Amino acid sequence: MIISIFGPPGSGKGTQSYLLTNRENFIQLSTGDMLRSEVSNNTDLGMKVKKYLDSGKLVPDELIIDVVKARLDTLVASYSSLRLIFDGFPRTEKQCLMLADILTDMGLSMDRAFLLNIDLEDLVRRLVARRVCSSCGKVYNLVLSPPLKDNLCDNCGAVLIHRSDDQENIIRERIKTYSEFIDSIKSFFSNRTTIFDIDANQSIENVYRDIVSKLFIKK
Ligand code: AMP
Repeated sequence: MIISIFGPPGSGKGTQSYLLTNRENFIQLSTGDMLRSEVSNNTDLGMKVKKYLDSGKLVPDELIIDVVKARLDTLVASYSSLRLIFDGFPRTEKQCLMLADILTDMGLSMDRAFLLNIDLEDLVRRLVARRVCSSCGKVYNLVLSPPLKDNLCDNCGAVLIHRSDDQENIIRERIKTYSEFIDSIKSFFSNRTTIFDIDANQSIENVYRDIVSKLFIKK
């Protein structure tokens, strides 16, 4: 089963993907996480993409697609029945077209897409208070869902980080970019699968319940 969770930065894509990974055996393919790992490992790709991540602008399509394809190849070869979440991909019209080709070539299809809808004014407030575990990726919010111990992950004890692009001016740039492309992404998904609109203003558990309730029903 292949699904996509999409929505603006801060809408909870990472949080919901984390829950689906832990509770329903999904694997998350997050282009943001993949790119951040390239940057922190100082790879050639990491050095090329750092400036885009730092400024909240999208990394050029041609730098993304090979990374996604390589990861998909590995996953498809490793799992006989893959449960995969695309998180943060595709993000542009060109990436949509590239993904369509890749899925066709690999004989795969998109089973469902979930659009996390949220009041845009809330995003900056949410993201400024967001902290992410440096090891397992669990997402916290210092106001809404703080860790039990200051700055340490409840799950694995690793240090929490404040992403460098979770600063107000960069967040606004990321939201602007999202708004530019959302219509093409929606039309890409609606031509291929069912899009479920999810109210992401609710609590984390209620958003999760809504997603799961639509995950396994027959379309
Ligand atoms: P995210 O973790 O999804 O919020 O992404 C963080 C940053 O990584 C974005 O602001 C972009 O600079 C870059 N990025 C992540 N995914 C993509 C993508 N599919 N296409 C282009 N840039 C991306």
